[in-house]
Amino acid sequence: MKIFKFGGASVNNAAGIKNLAKIVSKVNDQLVIVVSAFGKTTNALEIVLKAWLAGDIGYKDHLENIYSYHSSIADELFPSGNSARSKIDLSFSRLKEYLSSAKKSIYDFEYDQIVSYGEVWSTIIVAEFLKKSGLNADWIDIRGNLLTDDRYRDAEILWNESTNRIKTVFDFRRFPVYVTQGFIGGTVAGRTTTLGREGSDYTAAILANILDAEEVVVWKDVPGLLNADPKWLPDAQKLDEISYKEAVEMTFSGAKVIHPKTIKPLQNKNIPLHVRSFLVPDEKGTIVKADAALRKVIPVFIRKEDQILISILPKDFSFVMGDNLSRIFHTFILHGIKVNLVEASAVSIDVCVDDERPKVEALLTDLETEYSALYNENIELLSIRHYTQEAIERITKDRKILLEQRTRSTVRFVVRKN
Ligand code: ASP
Ligand code: MG
Repeated sequence: MKIFKFGGASVNNAAGIKNLAKIVSKVNDQLVIVVSAFGKTTNALEIVLKAWLAGDIGYKDHLENIYSYHSSIADELFPSGNSARSKIDLSFSRLKEYLSSAKKSIYDFEYDQIVSYGEVWSTIIVAEFLKKSGLNADWIDIRGNLLTDDRYRDAEILWNESTNRIKTVFDFRRFPVYVTQGFIGGTVAGRTTTLGREGSDYTAAILANILDAEEVVVWKDVPGLLNADPKWLPDAQKLDEISYKEAVEMTFSGAKVIHPKTIKPLQNKNIPLHVRSFLVPDEKGTIVKADAALRKVIPVFIRKEDQILISILPKDFSFVMGDNLSRIFHTFILHGIKVNLVEASAVSIDVCVDDERPKVEALLTDLETEYSALYNENIELLSIRHYTQEAIERITKDRKILLEQRTRSTVRFVVRKN
């Protein structure tokens, strides 16, 4: 049994969905297909949400554009009509009903109730198209099966509760192929949750873990994992085979091709991950698996943009490494801020985090009584795995370096944005 995941870029128009059907029809195996929202629908739904929360009636026009986009895709795929049409219409009217009647709750909760529709619509259309193309495929609503806690927008999987349900619904007794939503889940009480932006890869990995899949294939618009973002370093090269460890380090440092949470569920069950291009589906892409070595070790460059460097000093001049450390990090966790780099000295600690300003400001206010904190904005975090002197010079020349960290395998630079 295999799991295939198709992201928004692979299904941004009717041709993309036809291409998906062509790719999956060549698989001679049981298959779960995890699909993200079409194209940039998640971003578009975020705009609807913000307008709605702000009381701006213009949200209706934004939603109407999203509706037209989905209907034009459906029209092209089903020129002589199909039940996808009525299912999509029904689902849009449910959302409209919610928007016109719900009492507005907090942002994170409403985010999940509203933005999650993108995956519902995309999977309805994909499943109907696969059926029309002759595949015996079933559509599964993951929200009642992949159970999570109620940390909206960053929900944690309830593994025990999800396992039985997932094994029961994806049993392959009547259907060899299932289509389901990435990125979304549901609480035990039946509220929709999401797993964090770009979380569909993670969904694929969770399902693979629970169902003991043979492999996961993530279909992308790039040929595989590269040793750098080609928009940054145009001579980037594809990596043929890398280890789970390498992949997790790369994604944690900011490589964007796969979601950082994807690796653990796969590593735990020794399931290989293939990153392949839906544009050239016959090519091999990158394999992530246990004990793979970078065949020839080449430097891997990773850039994480939009960072803030926070320096925290205990006001009473006490050592930072004692009790202060756990107090400081506990505060980061409370504010939902993920730490990307830490460097401590005797009486101060530097922490690099994503520049999510409202959260960072709330954190600083909380720390204020015991600590003085300063921050530097417009920061980037540059990492090189398997660095060489030449590689370091290549990306740090003419850069203002604020902090440098080196281990045997990795060097990381906190630099000012150019
Ligand atoms: N559609 C969601 C997003 O754009 C999830 C995903 O693409 O993986 O973040
Ligand atoms: Mg997406």
